[in-house]
Amino acid sequence: MKKLSNFIGGVFSEPLSKNYLESLSPITGEVHCLIPDSDSFDVDAAVRAAITAQPQWNAFGRAGRARLLHRIADLLEARMDEFALAEVSDQGKTFQQARHFEMPRSVRNLRFFADLVVSDGFIRGSIMTQVEAPTLNGEYKIIAESVAQREPVGVAGIIVPWNLPLYLLTWKIAPALAMGNTVVAKPSELTSLTAFMLAELVQEAQLLPGVLNIVFGRGPSAGEALVSHPDVTAIAFTGGTLTGRRIASLAGSFGKKVSLELGGKNPSIVFADCPDLFDAVKTNVRAAFSNQGEICLCCSRIYVQQAIYDDFVRQFAKETETIVRKGETIGALISRQHLEKVRGYVEEARATGASILECEIEKSSDGYYMNPTIICGLSDKSRLWKEEIFGPVVCIKPFSGEEKESIMLANDTEYGLAASIWTRDMAKAQRLARQIKAGTIWINCWMVRDLAAPFGGMKASGHGREGGIYSLDFFSEFKTITSLNT
Ligand code: NDP
Repeated sequence: MKKLSNFIGGVFSEPLSKNYLESLSPITGEVHCLIPDSDSFDVDAAVRAAITAQPQWNAFGRAGRARLLHRIADLLEARMDEFALAEVSDQGKTFQQARHFEMPRSVRNLRFFADLVVSDGFIRGSIMTQVEAPTLNGEYKIIAESVAQREPVGVAGIIVPWNLPLYLLTWKIAPALAMGNTVVAKPSELTSLTAFMLAELVQEAQLLPGVLNIVFGRGPSAGEALVSHPDVTAIAFTGGTLTGRRIASLAGSFGKKVSLELGGKNPSIVFADCPDLFDAVKTNVRAAFSNQGEICLCCSRIYVQQAIYDDFVRQFAKETETIVRKGETIGALISRQHLEKVRGYVEEARATGASILECEIEKSSDGYYMNPTIICGLSDKSRLWKEEIFGPVVCIKPFSGEEKESIMLANDTEYGLAASIWTRDMAKAQRLARQIKAGTIWINCWMVRDLAAPFGGMKASGHGREGGIYSLDFFSEFKTITSLNT
């Protein structure tokens, strides 16, 4: 059985307490590795290593840092099969999802931000202005020149969840490092394996010791110690809304910069004039069940215009059976506890008389598997319309086709992460897009993303934007230097 170590100052080390946690594989339900149960002393050692390394790392310059990120990307690219297999056993996802979606994207995260900091995109973020000031007779004259330039924030704390472990870790460490910060990262205690393997690559790439430190352990101990460490200047967090609120209040008491990418309850609105019903069905099935519904951007409530509702539901059930047969989409859920929680929602819907369709999956083991489940006829009052279920469960309901009704339905949740609109009437789609309160709106598509675009949520789905220059904004501070014209 693999025993993981913390990665601090370029060295693999035991937690100071010597305590370890058992990590179960969702596929078998058995312990498959031990992870350090780190505490504030381990976090402090990692932060000290990061502080020591930061000036030297920053002095590498943008091109030097970009080269090293590309080196790590090269190593990861050469081992994507190995990493994908580890992610499958650690998180429960399918090999298809890990190997063909998450690993290539993890490599791309590293390369994208490496390229961004040496491109015009970086320069555009800096500005030079002529400064006008009043003279003695009250006239404004240009008397000085100001340059605003980016500087790293220092030591960045990064906390990521279990659903897309390496994908989300690289999404944050790449811009943080490219910008000249050093990092202390804490992955979820449920999925630590690929972060540990990444640390091995970082060592092999000969990244300066202390530039990337990874401390494993539990949220309330290792996670909170990182958020509360006075020398960690910024916290980038992805995870649940309740945890995000706790982190925001802790970090706020230290006056830290915080970015929160939180949960979602994303609607999909399908009008009868959608460009192609079959395409809408196929994409909505993917949007509902990818990674067994454990993606913050999954659409877990679908509103279909009455005229095509029966047809849509029939085709949706058929397409779900197709993806189940292919066996590429639905893996095991992360834990027994989560499986029970998700099943609980379905039982609650059943008890209220909703119609439940489960598409039987083939199980190769005793892991935490659940059939993809389609719920129709659910009461409008049900909490399933409002709460993030984060599993292979989708609720579908007809609506009249009125724009006002669809906007009201879409916004009827505390979340505001994403929404998807299906219609060939672009003017209508744009009207809806403006009125739905969500950070990302897709028209006739889902999960089509440019890494340069701002990404983040509204309402309970978080605040702050990441992606492209917006990630650099988070991981940097502008300094304005003004010199008087001579
Ligand atoms: P959690 O909020 O439970 O955990 C996220 C991370 O925070 C984990 O590393 C966790 O550690 C850590 N953590 C937990 N408690 C604390 C604390 N008090 N202080 C510091 N860190 C803490 O989320 P899940 O892991 O359950 O992830 C699922 C959630 O993430 C869903 O709500 C999903 O929507 C959201 N998400 C949002 C995305 C977005 O981009 N908006 C993308 C992906 C997921 P540990 O696991 O060890 O407890």
